[in-house]
Amino acid sequence: MTDTPSAPERFLSAYTTLRLGGPAGTVTTAVHTDEAVGAVQSAAAAGRRLLVLAGGSNVVIGDDGFDGEVLLLRTRGVEVVGEDASGVLVRVAAGEPWDDFVAYAVTSGLSGVECLSGIPGAAGSTPIQNVGAYGQEVAHTIAAVHAYDRQAGAIRVMTPEECGFGYRTSVFKHDDRYLVTAVDFRLSRSGESAPIRYAELARSLGAEAGDRVPLRQARDTVLKLRAGKGMVLDPEDRDTWSVGSFFTNPVVPAGLLAGIGEAPHWPAGEGLVKLPAAWLIEHAGFPKGFAGDGVAISGKHTLALTNRGSGTTAALLDLARTIRDGVRARYGVELHPEPVLVGCEL
Ligand SMILES: Cc1cc2nc3c(=O)[nH]c(=O)nc-3n(C[C@H](O)[C@H](O)[C@H](O)COP(=O)(O)OP(=O)(O)OC[C@H]3O[C@@H](n4cnc5c(N)ncnc54)[C@H](O)[C@@H]3O)c2cc1C
Repeated sequence: MTDTPSAPERFLSAYTTLRLGGPAGTVTTAVHTDEAVGAVQSAAAAGRRLLVLAGGSNVVIGDDGFDGEVLLLRTRGVEVVGEDASGVLVRVAAGEPWDDFVAYAVTSGLSGVECLSGIPGAAGSTPIQNVGAYGQEVAHTIAAVHAYDRQAGAIRVMTPEECGFGYRTSVFKHDDRYLVTAVDFRLSRSGESAPIRYAELARSLGAEAGDRVPLRQARDTVLKLRAGKGMVLDPEDRDTWSVGSFFTNPVVPAGLLAGIGEAPHWPAGEGLVKLPAAWLIEHAGFPKGFAGDGVAISGKHTLALTNRGSGTTAALLDLARTIRDGVRARYGVELHPEPVLVGCEL
């Protein structure tokens, strides 16, 4: 394990896609799973606080940083561990960059994650909030999650049911009981995508919802759509200095729709509807580019709050509060943050 206690690496802004976050007590890097588990065990034994960071693309860390140990997860590895009539089982180390794994699947003729192309972060982070985009979410293909359970003091292999996947959530989110060490995905051996479910993607592909298209075409089209929205990391493009969507799409009682007028919405279970947070934000008076102090709504996507280079976490959260309060005042709907907030609150 490598200890990197000195500046500038001690500043967590070096490890987050927002490029925000103050200093850590210590920063260590784990390249092997047993190092990562050992770090968790020794921090627990010593009563030290520990924060796991992989890609840093779904965390907002306070300007005062994290007064504890930060563990950078850099384990790598993709391995086919089985194949039967139900598909090909691929085990991916938690620190493996997610999009490298998607590229591998597409190149290998393995179908099921192609619409999740271009999402930043690591494979082991995808179960945390059940990562999803363009009609796919990892809950569709995860066969098992390998996780060190701090309560049991052992690695467990958890079924999808035990993971409690929901819309941008799971048992892992906002709970540090588990360190995800690897994820098993069950993919189909096919050169074609899973049926396309997302209308915008189908339109761009010149396909109908439910059609299958070549894997490469699905990946390339998703990457193009995402890049146009600033949703593929690009150090030169500050519209991508974000955590992706800052707010989740709110699920509200259908009765609230009467006060919201023409908002698009989708059924979300008995008596509930899901509303697009981006629509609510724009219609409450916060357009793309709406700026705070060194921070702004992305010029390409209303849901992405970005650091323009001179921002602080305090300024980003001020902007988020202005938007949240404005939407509440206009529509009576509460927006909730999608990323994990560390050492700060909304
Ligand atoms: C430009 C952009 C676009 C995005 N688009 C999407 C999208 O389309 N869909 C989507 O769902 N998300 C999207 N995101 C959000 C983000 O990329 C995902 O949530 C991603 O899975 C986070 O991975 P990470 O490795 O960066 O996690 P981190 O930010 O490093 O960590 C996130 C949280 O998970 C915890 N954690 C990380 N690894 C582990 C582990 N192994 N075990 C236990 N806990 C762990 C951390 O402690 C933290 O609480 C986007 C983000 C950006 C910046």
